This record gives sequence, structure tokens and C-alpha cells, in this order.
Amino acid sequence: MPNDTASNDSPVLVWFRKDLRLDDNHALCAAVTTGRPVIPVYIREPEEAGTGVLGAAQSWWLHHSLKALAASLHGIGSDLILVTGSAEATLSRMAKETGAGTVFWNRRYDPNGIALDSALKDRLPGSGLQVNSFSGQLLHEPSRIKTGTGGPYRVYTPFWRALENAGEPDTPLDAPETLIAPDQCPKSERLEDWTLLPVKPDWAQTFSEIWTPGEAAALERLSDFVEERLDGYKHNRDRPAVDGTSRLSPHLALGEITPARIWHATRGLRSIPAEDVTTFRKEVVWRDFSYHLLFHNPTLPTENLNRTYDAFPWVSDPSAFDRWTKGMTGYPIVDAGMRQLWRHGYMHNRVRMIAASFLIKDLLIDWRRGAAWFADTLVDADPASNAASWQWVAGSGADASPFYRIFNPILQGEKFDPEGDYVRNFVPELERMPQKFIHRPFDAPAAVLKAAGVELGGSYPEPIVNHAMARDRALAAYQQIKDAA
Ligand SMILES: Cc1cc2nc3c(=O)[nH]c(=O)nc-3n(C[C@H](O)[C@H](O)[C@H](O)COP(=O)(O)OP(=O)(O)OC[C@H]3O[C@@H](n4cnc5c(N)ncnc54)[C@H](O)[C@@H]3O)c2cc1C
Repeated sequence: MPNDTASNDSPVLVWFRKDLRLDDNHALCAAVTTGRPVIPVYIREPEEAGTGVLGAAQSWWLHHSLKALAASLHGIGSDLILVTGSAEATLSRMAKETGAGTVFWNRRYDPNGIALDSALKDRLPGSGLQVNSFSGQLLHEPSRIKTGTGGPYRVYTPFWRALENAGEPDTPLDAPETLIAPDQCPKSERLEDWTLLPVKPDWAQTFSEIWTPGEAAALERLSDFVEERLDGYKHNRDRPAVDGTSRLSPHLALGEITPARIWHATRGLRSIPAEDVTTFRKEVVWRDFSYHLLFHNPTLPTENLNRTYDAFPWVSDPSAFDRWTKGMTGYPIVDAGMRQLWRHGYMHNRVRMIAASFLIKDLLIDWRRGAAWFADTLVDADPASNAASWQWVAGSGADASPFYRIFNPILQGEKFDPEGDYVRNFVPELERMPQKFIHRPFDAPAAVLKAAGVELGGSYPEPIVNHAMARDRALAAYQQIKDAA
């Protein structure tokens, strides 16, 4: 039924995507403002739709997040409808079945999502469904922030300044208190039948040691962070053994919380040093910057931004890649990071940089292979932040770390995990290693290894490469592409 002939009690549709929340949800609030019954829907689109397949860790998160969202929606009056199928066919069919004349959604900013949504905006009115779309996933929409000449940014600091000059992000909207349920609800599939939880249950079981998916947990985590950990963030954020960051990334990745809500929660905090607040906000803005890069460079996840890197002599070494994924490289900080990833679907940012650098520069394995592993195993996998960060480490990205700045896994470990607590937590076979050798067990005298119960090449691996030699090899490879350019 076309919009203009819809009766006042005909419902509207709200299509949830990576915005699994009621709070600060512009599309949902606008739907409520119509005064009509609201039908919330989540569509599991087929792979061919091109919206990208979620990795295994994020699928685990999605299962729990949808469950939480369904409960919240039910609590305020309307049930979440789950449907598998193409968005166009599903929305058109639902419009026909329910008499809905409008669908509301929050915009997405990845290239495939943008293309699909543009096509839907063109085609859905043909099925009698008007589209109303809203911002809300970023602090500012990527097209809004422009350089002085009207182009996109490639360097972070001027982007941050432009964002500061753009003014405060919109004030977040409160969650609606009630929804009017439709007289007749379309049929929903059962979440349990979607098999989003991993087939190997023992793998993701440990995720719940630290995570509670869902909007309520996201808001609670934000207030805990602001009260307890924002003070000191600038220093602590680089200490993987310290619980010093917000751990909001998986909640942001599926839109359980908005960056605007986070931004506004860090306003006017007189008791917290300004440098901590600014440092934290700058990190949140890295997420916007990554989306800005992806928006203006749609091939960011698959192609080097700096095309000189297209000639890089990557090595294919399945066995080395396998050891990296399993945390068996013989470099304790790298191994601890990769095992944290497996155990919790998360890795501390400092260690992500070290582990990524190790794969790219010590093992000479293409950054895209590492990015794909992260996308499958991170609960916070994000198409923009993951691609931009991997290209940053590789040196092929925008405003990237120069290739010749090669992280030394021993020195990085000693600097950022000085007591070795992070390593001991995730690499228990090194638990009894003295602090002096915790990041370099291969330099420990035999008696020290024996006393710590460590057998190199037995209970813990010998280093997969000699870092000094690997560094020289990486620099030679880099010289090769520079010479060819
Ligand atoms: C190789 C590599 C891959 C990465 N892949 C992802 C990814 O897939 N998804 C993801 O969300 N982050 C990714 N990051 C960025 C960063 O590691 C995580 O955002 C951060 O560790 C999340 O922890 P937190 O929420 O406690 O961060 P906090 O320190 O509390 O920061 C607050 C928020 O700021 C944003 N943020 C912080 N650092 C960055 C950054 N460097 N780039 C973009 N946004 C940032 C995140 O949304 C984060 O939740 C990657 C970094 C590297 C080096």
C-alpha cells in the first residue's frame, strides 16, 4: 500500500542493521514520532547480497546481541521480527502483508552497504514503501568532513582538527519508552535456527569470561569506564596487562552504543585530567577517520592505498602463518596477543600493532591474510578500522607508520608489559619465567629455563625467526619496491 494512502493505524517498519540498540537510535525515534505501530525487523541477508559475512567471533556476538535487542523491544511493546532473505524482497513482502508504507533505517557507510541502500531507495517506492534514512553510527557523516579544497583527508591530525571545528556531535536521543505494537505481527524465524553460535562450542565459551553483548552492557561499560578508568587512560591505554581501556569496540561494531553517546558522556568531567579525556576522544575519532578513509577509498580492505606496495615480495608460508594464528611464534608478546584473540575474541591495541607488525615484517606475510584472520576471530571486527589499521602497520595506508619502523617484539614487550603479567596470563607455560627473561626466553641460561619448567622447542617453541635477521630481510624487501617505484 503506498505511503499516501496508508491509514493512520497502518504500521511502519524499522530495519535494524549494525545498530542493535534503542538508545540514540534516530531511525527508531523517527518511527515512533509517526504515532503509528512499529514493526522492528532484522534481515539476515544472503552472502550474495554483498553486505559482507560476519566472522565467527562476531556471529557469536550477534546471536547474543539480537537476543538482548528482542528482549528490550518486547519490553517496550513490539516484537523483533527475524527474516532470512534479500532486503528488497523481504521489505516489499512485509509492506504488502502489513500495509506498512514507510521503512526507517540508520545509514551504513561501507561501500557495499551504501550501494545496496541506494538501490533500495530507488526500488522500494515501486513496492509502495518510502524510505527514511538517518545518521548515527559515526560522530559525523564521512561526506561532511572536507579539506579546505573540498577533498577527503588522508592524514589523521588535520582530520581531528576539522572534526573539532565541525562542532559537537548531535546530542544523543533517549530510547523510546513505548512502542505501539501492530495488530498483526509478521511471522518471525527463530534465532536458535540461525546457528550463529560456533559449531565448536568450546572455542567461544571463554568469550563470556569478559564480554556481555547487548546495549545494556554497553551503557554500563561506558559508565564504569568513565567513573573508574578514564582517569589515567593516557598512560594505561598502552599497558596490555592493565584493564585501562574502555573495551567498547565490540559494542560499537554492532551499533549497541553510538560514538555520540560516548562523546557526550565524556563532557564536563572536571575531576578527570583533560589529557585523558582528549586522548580517549582522539581514539574514538580514529574510528571515524577509518570510515572516512573507507568511504573515500572503497577498496581499502583489499588493495594497498599506496600502490607502490603492489610490488611487495610477500612470502607464502602456510606453516608460519599457522604458528602465528596459534600463538606459537616463540616471541612471548606476539603469542600472548594471538592467544588473547583466540580466548576472548579481542586483543589489546598495543599488542595488535606488535602482532600485525610481526606477521608483515618478520614473516613477510601479506597484511590481507592477517586482516582476514582478525575479521574472523575478533568480536569487534570492523571493515573500516580493521583495514585501515592493517594498512597503517604495513606502511601502505594513509598516514601510515613508515615501513622501516619495525616493531621489536622483545623491546615492545619489555616496555609495555614490564612485569610480564600479560604474557603470563595468556602463555601459561612461561608463568614461572623470571621477569628478566619473560620476553626473551631464548636468551635465558639453561638453569633458568629448567627452574622455570620451560623446555624451548618442547613446552614452548623456539623463535620462528631471528628478529634481527628478519628485520634486515624486511628492509631489503622494502628497498626492492622503492627501487622499482
Ligand atoms: C592490526 C589492527 C587491527 C584492528 N582491527 C580493529 C577492528 O577490526 N575493529 C576495531 O574496532 N578496532 C580495530 N583496531 C583498533 C583498536 O585496536 C581497537 O579499536 C581497540 O583495541 C579496541 O579496544 P577499546 O574499545 O578498549 O579501545 P579504547 O582505547 O577504549 O578506544 C575507544 C574506541 O576508540 C576506537 N579506536 C581506538 N583505537 C582505534 C584505532 N586504532 N582505529 C580505529 N578505532 C579505534 C574504538 O572504537 C574503541 O572502542 C585494530 C588495530 C590494529 C593495530
